[in-house]
Amino acid sequence: MGTKGKEIVGVDIKKLIELLNKALADEWLAYYQYWIGAKVLTGPMRGSVEAELVEHANDELRHAGMLVERIIQLGGTPILKPEDWYKMTNCGYDAPEDPKVQKILKQNIKGEQCAIEVYDKLLDFIGEKDFITSNMVEEILADEVEHEEDLQALEEDFNQMK
Ligand code: FE
Ligand code: FE
Ligand code: MG
Repeated sequence: MGTKGKEIVGVDIKKLIELLNKALADEWLAYYQYWIGAKVLTGPMRGSVEAELVEHANDELRHAGMLVERIIQLGGTPILKPEDWYKMTNCGYDAPEDPKVQKILKQNIKGEQCAIEVYDKLLDFIGEKDFITSNMVEEILADEVEHEEDLQALEEDFNQMK
């Protein structure tokens, strides 16, 4: 990154890059969890849930791209090896071993709630000391809040069918 661009970042840049890489690991795992979940899904309401999962997968992949661009701009190296996803992740990975709609929704809601906490804490860490990163994180956080809401609405619809 340009020298002035770096100078205005008031937080510990190394720590910030580490936190962004940890979020990157979460986004990749979330991407795959949604993507593979959409493929294996079974049960009632499958069609509408599948569409939502695919949409969310695409959002998580876009988030990963945003994080990588900022990490590089800050002079950091984004995670290069898949094995590091597991070492760095905050939220982990829930394999959709039970592919029933209600189970997959529950797993992904848990993931979104973890993501919301991670980004909220990241905003606390940044404070008013790096507006470029905090604007980006706010944008991602708004998507995660919407994801949780969408999945909980589907869960409610599902429960009303019973
Ligand atoms: Fe995300
Ligand atoms: Fe999400
Ligand atoms: Mg959605």
